[in-house]
Amino acid sequence: DKQSAEHYVNEVFEAVKKRNPNETEFHQAVKEIFDSLVPVFATHPEYMKNGILERMSEPERMISFRVPWVDDQGKVQVNRGFRAQFNSSIGPYKGGLRFHPSVNASIIKFLGFEQIFKNSLTGQPIGGGKGGSDFDPKGKSDAEVMRFTQSFMTELSNHIGSDIDVPAGDIGVGPREIGYMFGQYKRLHGGYESGILTGKGLEYGGSLGRTEATGYGTVYFMEEMLKDKGQHFKDSTVVVSGSGNVSIYAMEKAAQLGAKVVACSDSNGYVYDKNGINLETIRRLKEVERKRIAEYTVEHPEAEYHEGCTDIWCTPCDIALPCATQNEIDEAAAKILVANEVKAVGEGANMPSTLKAIDVFQSNGVLFGPAKAVNAGGVAVSALEMAQNSMRLSWTFEEVDNKLQEIMKNIYRNSVDAAEKYGHPDNLVMGANIAGFLKVADAMLEQGII
Ligand code: GLU
Repeated sequence: DKQSAEHYVNEVFEAVKKRNPNETEFHQAVKEIFDSLVPVFATHPEYMKNGILERMSEPERMISFRVPWVDDQGKVQVNRGFRAQFNSSIGPYKGGLRFHPSVNASIIKFLGFEQIFKNSLTGQPIGGGKGGSDFDPKGKSDAEVMRFTQSFMTELSNHIGSDIDVPAGDIGVGPREIGYMFGQYKRLHGGYESGILTGKGLEYGGSLGRTEATGYGTVYFMEEMLKDKGQHFKDSTVVVSGSGNVSIYAMEKAAQLGAKVVACSDSNGYVYDKNGINLETIRRLKEVERKRIAEYTVEHPEAEYHEGCTDIWCTPCDIALPCATQNEIDEAAAKILVANEVKAVGEGANMPSTLKAIDVFQSNGVLFGPAKAVNAGGVAVSALEMAQNSMRLSWTFEEVDNKLQEIMKNIYRNSVDAAEKYGHPDNLVMGANIAGFLKVADAMLEQGII
């Protein structure tokens, strides 16, 4: 019953907190999943057997290593590298690498934990993992990024493999870093193993559509959700935080569907352009010139630049797509969005809303698409990249994009169905968490206590 389910969940959560002191982001991610699962345990007590939650919330393996490198002044720098190999019950560990000064064990564990359920939701055979470093790419020369990245891969290469663990990009890790890592791995191991990383360049085993996948998938998912309620992106006003890979392609697809995207941001501030954000400018500034978004107004003097990135949520909009980073929408920001009559919120980033912010959206009838479902298109197309690498062939953009659309529709459908089945219709946080959990839990039960 509900009471014993709640008791089980609380008991395991207390143990997780005790074993991982002060790891607040990890606690937050675990809490959200555990709370979602109460209706599953209440009706199917067999899932309370065999320490499923106890095992799921402890990484199979947590790797931490020194990354020494020499900067342009000849000084030795030391960063810390991580890889959380969280769960391999339905496939090799799969998940991105993040290079950002905020990276620590808590951040990597929350991301790796979420990846288990997200990857399960995609329907693809991929387990959950995540890694990264506290290295700050901002202001580093290309040569420094290469030396750091090669040193990082020198250690990581001992732990990955196309049937073991397949990393990809995340914040601070894009095509340039993936290229350097692929080169270094090849040099260390010999032989041409294209499936050891995803997000690769098209010349050496990358998949068409992978670059666009997270952003496009975010919009495909949200369009499906809106359609169910008789709404659309068409003619709506959209705010998309961030200006990286997820944000850029979410803005592009939203605009293609007839929406007007009026604001986006970087970690310094945000731009508001009432005529609609000019994507070519953003793409050139961020991806080619690696400059700040503040420069946008040089070419578009009619636009406004505001210091401070979280104030972007004060911009009135119909649809908000947080595509920057974790906890970028807190309770106060959520209340402002609701006061400005936001209709839908779709999480393109990982865990961009605090638990209280989610509560504000759901209790005010805002359509809320949770990250594990909404942003799963990126890792889903990574799995398609792995499949193409295994077959030594490459699909066209249309083939990949059609598969992505199909995958996003299935994720939406499965999340809605699970939410209804377990008594919380319209709560996609619960639906996505439950649907993602069930496949992994069944695999774990079938494979015994390992
Ligand atoms: N970093 C992305 C995510 O959060 C993609 C991971 C991947 O493609 O492996 O899901």
